[in-house]
Amino acid sequence: MELINTIWFLYLTSAVCFVAGLHFMNNPKTARKGNFISMFGMLLACLVACWQTSLNNKANFDKFSFLVLFLGIGLGAATGASLAKQVKMTQMPQLVSLFNMVGGGAAAIIALNDFYGLKQINLITIIASFLGIIIGSITFTGSFIASAKLHGKIPSGVIDFAGRIVIIIILIVAILISLTSINSENLIHISWLIAGFSAIIGILFTLAIGGADMPVVISVLNAFTGLAVAMSGFIIYNPVMVIAGAIVGSAGCILSILMSRAMNRKLIKIMLGGFGQKAGDNSNSSILSQNIRTTTADDLALRLAYANDVIIIPGFGLAQAGAAGEIAQLDNELTKKGVNVKYAIHPVAGRMPGHMNILLAEANINYDKMLELEAANTAFPLADIALVVGANDVTNPAARKSGSAISGMPILNVDQAKDITVIKRGSGLGFAGIENLLYSDEKTTMLYGDAKKALSETVESLSEL
Ligand code: NDP
Repeated sequence: MELINTIWFLYLTSAVCFVAGLHFMNNPKTARKGNFISMFGMLLACLVACWQTSLNNKANFDKFSFLVLFLGIGLGAATGASLAKQVKMTQMPQLVSLFNMVGGGAAAIIALNDFYGLKQINLITIIASFLGIIIGSITFTGSFIASAKLHGKIPSGVIDFAGRIVIIIILIVAILISLTSINSENLIHISWLIAGFSAIIGILFTLAIGGADMPVVISVLNAFTGLAVAMSGFIIYNPVMVIAGAIVGSAGCILSILMSRAMNRKLIKIMLGGFGQKAGDNSNSSILSQNIRTTTADDLALRLAYANDVIIIPGFGLAQAGAAGEIAQLDNELTKKGVNVKYAIHPVAGRMPGHMNILLAEANINYDKMLELEAANTAFPLADIALVVGANDVTNPAARKSGSAISGMPILNVDQAKDITVIKRGSGLGFAGIENLLYSDEKTTMLYGDAKKALSETVESLSEL
């Protein structure tokens, strides 16, 4: 078999690994296996790419070139492994955003590099390269801003100013004009100029997107990364990059559509931004805080023990507190007492899609007990107690009114339960940065404290009853 056939066969093997890996990730039980298969595919793709590069550039390829390549792979792998080990599950979205940033940036650099030493302008390469530069640069800066918002380094709310859309339009027009003035002399300068314009567009787009819409933005940027990588694959004739990029791009697109549907938003409206609460604006907080009633762990335990149906609503705070084990203990105690326990899972609860399902599954809570949004909303009117643990935005009835950061977003109708208790540490806002109308509902009592501690105390009281 010719060497090139072997190379293409190995590339095909890595692509099959990516697809098989994704398939296994469909189920939490096989997800780990899926990750390993995809990892193997990626390692194989990297090694084959090194081999192919060495064959294509035999004349210039020396020991130093190999050293640079393997140092790059080694450094990348070591950084990825150490980040993945250190990062808490609640910090996953900002890590994903950083990975998107690196992916987009790398794709833009590959495209920019293509213009150096280019002797003849070929239309197909030019189109693929400029798409790679534009999409990659937007993803690079957009993901950086998204990561900073998720990390709390900049306010998570809408950061908008008059004329933002006009500036974006001017930049798009400038990109189009630059594209029409390309020739072999100015190609490199124009490509850097376009990369700069695109980078500013990425910043302006993401700054104006409000906290509650961040899940959609992350998956859109993820789709962009995939597209940019696929474009780079076209440029350097690397089929596995085209396949991997296309998989990421299409998966990101599907996820973005599903997430925007789950939030009852038009994708285009989210991307235009400026919708919802401005960062730092929380004008109605004092009126709401006057009507808040508190409770104790003992009181909660007593009410839970005499309930028939309890629905637990987990949110980001549960993950932050690392209290999934305590939830499982509470579930055991209640089940022993004949109480029917269910969980209401909102599609954007926590900080990543499926966050709550994974958290509860890791604590060995049965999947059959987890209700999706619609089923949960049918069950709330019959629930004796709705116990909200570290969830905020996904329970906020403000979504049913106009003019708030989460208006129109389908929420868990916790306020329809007969009795409601919310466990949270204090008056901290949700990710969307707005007050929760549920807390001032006359059926609601607040149990202030860290979720882990509050749940442990409740379990202790319950076991003594
Ligand atoms: P929120 O982020 O709205 O609220 C979490 C609440 O948990 C806070 O109000 C906080 O209040 C409380 N909390 C924090 N730490 C603790 C702790 N140790 N013990 C007890 N409570 C704690 O969470 P939700 O899950 O309701 O909503 C998710 C939000 O994140 C949505 O706006 C969603 O759009 C957004 N998002 C979701 C992503 C996804 O893919 N799922 C990705 C990115 C963003 P206090 O400080 O008072 O304790």
